[in-house]
This record gives sequence, C-alpha cells and structure tokens, in this order.
Amino acid sequence: MAEKIFIVEDERSIARLLQLTLEREGFKTAIESNGRRAYERIIQEKYDLILLDVMLPEMDGMEICKRVREVSDVPIIMLTARDEIRDKVEGLDLGANDYVTKPFAGEELLARIRGILRRHNERLRDAEEKRYVIKNMILYPERYEVTVKGEKIDLTHKEYALLKYLVENKRNVLSRDQILQTVWGYDYIGDTNVVDVYISYLRTKIDDRFGEKYIHTTRGVGYAIKD
Ligand code: CA
Repeated sequence: MAEKIFIVEDERSIARLLQLTLEREGFKTAIESNGRRAYERIIQEKYDLILLDVMLPEMDGMEICKRVREVSDVPIIMLTARDEIRDKVEGLDLGANDYVTKPFAGEELLARIRGILRRHNERLRDAEEKRYVIKNMILYPERYEVTVKGEKIDLTHKEYALLKYLVENKRNVLSRDQILQTVWGYDYIGDTNVVDVYISYLRTKIDDRFGEKYIHTTRGVGYAIKD
C-alpha cells in the first residue's frame, strides 16, 4: 500500500519536483500551496507524512506545525532555506520530525522520508501491541517473547506457557492442579512435582538472575506472580 505524502509548498516548480521525485519512488502525493487550506486538509484528510514549507501564504509552516501537533502526530518534515538555522531549530521545537534544506537532494530527502516513516510505523505497532508488564518484565504474547530490563529471556515452550499463565492471572494464586490442567493439559499423566520443577526453572532464569522477586509461593496452595 503506497503511503501518501502531502506536499505543502507554494513554489510551483519545487512542488512539482517533489511530486516527481516521490511518485517515481512509488509514493502517492497531494499538493497544496496555501497555508490555511493546507492546515485544513491535514486536519480533515489522512496523510502518512507532510512536507511543509516555512514561508506560505495565509498561514506559515511554523504555525501549521504547531496547530497540527495539538491534534496529530503525523510525521512532518520542514522544508527550510539553506541558511535559516533559526527555522530549523524552531520547526523541531514545534514538533517537526526533521527538516530538509532547499535546494534539496532527492536521495537525501527520500532517505529521511523512509527513516521517519519506518520509525513512525514502529511506534504505532508498539503502541498497539498487546503486552503484560510486571515490574521490569514485559511479556509480548503475540511475539512469544519475554524481556526483563530490556533483555530477552530464553525460555522453553513449557516455561513460556507457565509464565504466560501466571502473568495473565497476575496476583492470583494458582494451584498446582490449575497450572497442570492449563499448561500441561487435562490428560497429563505424570508427577505433579513437574510444576515445582518448572517454577524453579523460571526462578533461576528470572528472579535469581535479575535479583528481583516475581514468583511467590503460597505454601500448600500454589504460585502467583506479583508486581
Ligand atoms: Ca514558500
């Protein structure tokens, strides 16, 4: 799916050059030369990234950037004149993601755009991704992954399933029977001590290794994970 880039630039030749550069790379584009209309279109329509000139009729790029940031985190790259350091600093202060100086080099502009889109999409994915957080531990059920203090923990299939069950029932004490039925299955035939053994594996890999207590024992009842 092609990403749509909104070119806000009142110099026709520059706008056209940007459009050609972007469309050649497979992006969709839209162009607007008037600042106030650009602001309205950004608010009303959906763009994946905005290329925003500073000097524009009716509303300048700084004002647009400031207003858009009140309601949206759409990526914005400011188009600034080569020597306008003040514009670059001010644009970034107002929430622009980056700036490109005019006259721009096509390759540099494309590299910046790709970088910003990639980081933005990663942030969106992270924000949507389901996760359980317990102290310094994060379990990502969709990734089948656990980290403690940002470090990935190497777990076997059963260790992961046990940890996930405890995490999903955070603070609840789960009996050995409950754990056996859920993690090992109803038809499990074997030693119920298997639960204690796997709890000790998890403690070695998590509690002991990081010096923090996650898994608690309630004597005669079972186990719970607590934050
Ligand atoms: Ca201009």
